[in-house]
Amino acid sequence: MSPGHDVNAQTGVDMANARRNASVNISLVRDFLHNGRTEWEKRRRIVEILSKDPVFDKSKRDFMSRPERYTRGIAMTNRVYELQNIHNWSQQEANIAINSLDEQLSIGLHNVAFQPILMSQGSPEILRDFGPLVANRGILGCYLQTELGHGTNVPKLETTATYIPETKEFEIHSPTLTSSKWWIGALGKTATHGVVQAQLIIGGKNYGPHLFLVQLRSLENHRVLPGIKIGDIGPKSLGGFAATDNGFARFNHARIPKTQMLSKFAQVTDDGQYIQPPHAKLSYGGMLYIRANMATGAGWLMAKAATVSIRYATVRRQGEKGPDGLERQTVSYPSVHSRLLPIISHAYVFIHLGKTLIQSFEVMSGRLQKGDTSLLAEMHAVTSGLKVLVTSTGIQDLEIARRSMGGHGYSAFSGLGRLYADYLPSATYEGDNFVLDQQVVRAAVKSYGNLLKTNDSPNLSPSMAYLRLLAVDATVPTAPTEAAWQDPATTIQLLEWRAALLVREVSQNIDDLDATAGQRVAKAVTEAFVAARVGEIIKIVQYLLTTLEIGIVDLLSFGALGASNGRDVTRTLRLAIKNLCTELLPEVIGLTDAFGFTDWELDSALGVYDGKVYEQLWNRAQAEPLNETEIPVAYEQSIRPMLKRGQQRAAAMRTKL
Ligand SMILES: Cc1cc2nc3c(=O)[nH]c(=O)nc-3n(C[C@H](O)[C@H](O)[C@H](O)COP(=O)(O)OP(=O)(O)OC[C@H]3O[C@@H](n4cnc5c(N)ncnc54)[C@H](O)[C@@H]3O)c2cc1C
Repeated sequence: MSPGHDVNAQTGVDMANARRNASVNISLVRDFLHNGRTEWEKRRRIVEILSKDPVFDKSKRDFMSRPERYTRGIAMTNRVYELQNIHNWSQQEANIAINSLDEQLSIGLHNVAFQPILMSQGSPEILRDFGPLVANRGILGCYLQTELGHGTNVPKLETTATYIPETKEFEIHSPTLTSSKWWIGALGKTATHGVVQAQLIIGGKNYGPHLFLVQLRSLENHRVLPGIKIGDIGPKSLGGFAATDNGFARFNHARIPKTQMLSKFAQVTDDGQYIQPPHAKLSYGGMLYIRANMATGAGWLMAKAATVSIRYATVRRQGEKGPDGLERQTVSYPSVHSRLLPIISHAYVFIHLGKTLIQSFEVMSGRLQKGDTSLLAEMHAVTSGLKVLVTSTGIQDLEIARRSMGGHGYSAFSGLGRLYADYLPSATYEGDNFVLDQQVVRAAVKSYGNLLKTNDSPNLSPSMAYLRLLAVDATVPTAPTEAAWQDPATTIQLLEWRAALLVREVSQNIDDLDATAGQRVAKAVTEAFVAARVGEIIKIVQYLLTTLEIGIVDLLSFGALGASNGRDVTRTLRLAIKNLCTELLPEVIGLTDAFGFTDWELDSALGVYDGKVYEQLWNRAQAEPLNETEIPVAYEQSIRPMLKRGQQRAAAMRTKL
């Protein structure tokens, strides 16, 4: 950079130029992403109210302790519902407010786990007695499934719910240390009630895990009820989930009325007869609802990562001289933008896919209410695969975006470290990703087996449609030309071939699989499904090409794409990606502005709208509590004695010389 050049002022100039050069119709794209102009305006109004309210101030958050983060989280939650009353917000508007707070809040467990599970599986009595309280947060709930000793393997949970016919009660009990409920969000300090997963015991016989509504704390003074021990499980990795009170609970023969078994499906009669649910999987609805929502959530998270990192790379100049005689904007380096552009496309795809998934969930849910389970298996397969894909991609993208910003990316003020820490466990909760992979593979192998028996490819479900390639006498395409990659159909077909070949291979070797087969096959199967949806709806070529770039090794391992004759058959694909990146580069600020985030929402020194990142970093650093005094407390306690000791030793050495 030439002496005298104002690096700080240049940031604003670069951002303004990038915005001027983009041709994206921002309001059109933004309305599309936010389900239309009315929804966007609604959201904008709510965010404006929150951002002006001191309760939602974020300026001190990075310096807070965990108890302070928890207290702040609860204060924000309370304020949202206060504002709901003041502004007469609908439930959907209150949810928009909660979701626009970039914090893992305990109320999330009430809204996405406790309430849907209770309302979809509770008996008419539960809905009558607790429904209005739950809907208005007159009681606050959590969902207690996981135990110290068991998470994935639900059938082995140890908590028991023993039926006492004499009093028409269940006795909830934790017989061992390892049966302690653990990890339960909102349990540690907040929840008054919980849905507890426990082994149902009637007359000494175990009927397996069932759900029970249990009051945990007094509604008078919030004290934990007799027979229950509850606490917070302590800090989480990387400071994540700081505002959530993940808790433990042990039950000592705690009694609940019989009516508090969630008995919409399975029931126990007063005299202790067990009535089986009409379909073993009728109770899956709640779990699928949470997973169905995860695609949209991941999409918006990736949108944040993309907005922050693209804005920073637009104003950060470093290294070689560019055509304007200044150091190049880091976004102009292919090694930088080739990492960031896929994040934009992931965000667009997952936001849109999430919307269609919720619609499908609602159709399935409506049928389930009438006892029709015909859509359940497909919904289960799709949401399992997508849960793994969106969470793994989201975790990866957050770190790619953070790392693309060099040293400043590691500052808490970049905002992405916090999002990463909070999002990391999404690979574990709601079904561990590696375990879900196996379910995706099982469903695919079963469908392939059926296809071999029936040869009925027209009736394959959407998530298994790629298997049709194995039913007809089709041949795997050879390596496409560079021009052919422009057609989404080319990539979609190759991604479908990849899934089909892998499923056939695992089906043939099902008794002797290699250790990573589950991950490779599940990823291929889900990516084929997503690619087909992308082809139908938004045709984001960038998404398709970069997905195939990573997955192409699977095709090559089957000798697909033709003989290489000593040349790289993937070169045309990589060149197509490079050219597409170059084409998209002038649009990246427009494409990320279209997500519509305000500076308050992003809370990132590096992702500010005006590009003035250095001023932001400087100002935020001034608020560091260590800067409040010139001389730290540690000076008298430790620095001074250390210096004195060193000086005395140096003096002693000098006298010896
Ligand atoms: C932040 C956070 C919030 C949570 N909130 C809640 C909550 O509100 N309520 C609640 O009930 N729970 C909650 N959980 C718990 C969560 O649901 C469990 O952590 C999850 O189900 C995984 O179980 P686990 O931790 O026991 O792991 P384990 O099941 O012990 O898995 C450990 C390892 O073994 C592997 N593994 C396990 N089984 C198999 C198998 N069959 N085949 C191959 N590999 C296998 C897994 O892939 C993993 O790598 C939360 C967890 C976290 C991290």
